[in-house]
Amino acid sequence: MRDQQPKSRDATLTLHAGAAPREVGLPVSSPPVMATSFFTHPDAIGFSANDLKDAAPHFYSRWSNPTLELLEIRLAALEGGEAALSFATGMAAVSALFLDRLGSGDHLVLSNVCYAGVAELAHDILPRHGIAVDAVDTSDLEAVAAAMRPNTKLVHIETPANPILRLSEIAAIGEIAHAGAAELSVDATISTPLGTKPLSLGADYVVHSLTKYIGGHGDALGGAVIGRQERIAALRKGSLIHLGGSLSPFAAWLILRGMETLAPRMMMHEANARRVEAFLANHPKVRSVFWPGSPRHPQHELAQRQMRNFSGLLAFTAKEEGGALARQLAERLRVVSYAVSLGKTKSLLFYIPTEDILRSSFHLDGEGARSYREWAVDGVFRFSVGLEDPDDIIADLEQALG
Ligand SMILES: *Cc1c(COP(=O)(O)O)cnc(C)c1O
Repeated sequence: MRDQQPKSRDATLTLHAGAAPREVGLPVSSPPVMATSFFTHPDAIGFSANDLKDAAPHFYSRWSNPTLELLEIRLAALEGGEAALSFATGMAAVSALFLDRLGSGDHLVLSNVCYAGVAELAHDILPRHGIAVDAVDTSDLEAVAAAMRPNTKLVHIETPANPILRLSEIAAIGEIAHAGAAELSVDATISTPLGTKPLSLGADYVVHSLTKYIGGHGDALGGAVIGRQERIAALRKGSLIHLGGSLSPFAAWLILRGMETLAPRMMMHEANARRVEAFLANHPKVRSVFWPGSPRHPQHELAQRQMRNFSGLLAFTAKEEGGALARQLAERLRVVSYAVSLGKTKSLLFYIPTEDILRSSFHLDGEGARSYREWAVDGVFRFSVGLEDPDDIIADLEQALG
């Protein structure tokens, strides 16, 4: 383990945390990609992951690798966590965490609005392994408390939640989870470590899709879980090594390189989102806009308490039929790309029809569906505001909205 720089601030950590001690002749640029599948060993050690010791030397890159290790040290430092574990994708990180912490007979409480892949994993796959899942509106603390059962082992929230940017209160939900026998994991992909530090608010795990803001350039997939040393070591052994979703060293290198500009990018994403939110809020074709940094967001007060950077993702709904406007925007936008994903340097916009996502991903009915429709109406436009000049983003939206 390399020395960590104590008490550095976030922007410094994204550049220096975990760096090797200064020596003459070491590169100041990015660390090398350790493009190797395996390593020589100083002595005979066990062949099984079950024999893995703490602080073992690198052995096989599905287990650990120096480029991944640097990324992990940097992420742990940024989140204020003891340890981090990288994965091939955000979904590999979430599925590894779920399968490590939950088994047959256990119960998961899940935010009823979250990344569609996570919702589908929880609804379609976990029950096949005997894991019960309750999806609740985690912006409603009473609903979370009511969903807890004696066998609830994990509460998983996403704040802000993709795609409607609804917030959940991390500290309060942590207390509810810990009052039972449960742990709390927080997917903080949208807020990034620059916005929120869930571990400091009582979460047991933070999950990130590194594919989004942390990598930032849309050129590499990755995921991570950050938490206590002994939990992360168990996750490495129990889920990374055996489920096998390890990050490639080259992707880790791209993510480390992208991360060097995370702090200035997030400042600019936020500033641009503020401008775009104000433009959209006054546009005659727009019904409502959701961005946690705006006083118009229904949970702006919570956002101010829980977020130090409001990020660059916003959602808006149309006054008239959303589907028709989506087709028009896909055709007319020039600066903004009509594409999935988020957190990239360039602006991305995508339309998510309400009935589709309720049916395919969220399986909501009753109060959950009613509440989702209240935010999303017939569909939300998820807009990841990029780093172009905000006047150009707004001019593009203006001509495309028509
Ligand atoms: C993209 C995303 C994921 C999944 O990450 P991948 O890297 O695409 O597997 C999980 N959670 C959130 C909030 C996301 O935006």
